[in-house]
Amino acid sequence: MIRSFRYTQAEWPISLEELKQRRDQCVKAESRSSIVFLILFFGFLFANVPFVNWIESNATLPVWVKPAWLGLFMVVLIGNLPLMVYLLKRRVRSFGLNCPSCDKMVHAQAMAIAVATGYCSHCGVKLVSDHTFQPPQALR
Ligand SMILES: [Zn+2]
Repeated sequence: MIRSFRYTQAEWPISLEELKQRRDQCVKAESRSSIVFLILFFGFLFANVPFVNWIESNATLPVWVKPAWLGLFMVVLIGNLPLMVYLLKRRVRSFGLNCPSCDKMVHAQAMAIAVATGYCSHCGVKLVSDHTFQPPQALR
């Protein structure tokens, strides 16, 4: 899915247009994968209700099925958070949106600052080559 998006593999600092293009394509990929993730996650949650009812009503099942299912349910419920973080980091990297200096993600708030100023909000390195923003004299 990510391969269908195109951006140049230009080295940092890139042009402002390139940065915005990468950001837009990353956001597009993000919203696509969010839809898939939400369908799977809520599908799992809603399917859980009839499945638990079936476990409760079925007396022939071994006694360990109920706690085993509860354990699996909790793993999926809690495990989706680190999975989401992992997928986000992978996606941002695949769009070349990690700072060349500190390797942190140029994403969300850091992206807004990079677009507004042309600099990395984490380490201050110049990210955009053709930005018109001039930092105040004291910060140079
Ligand atoms: Zn940085």
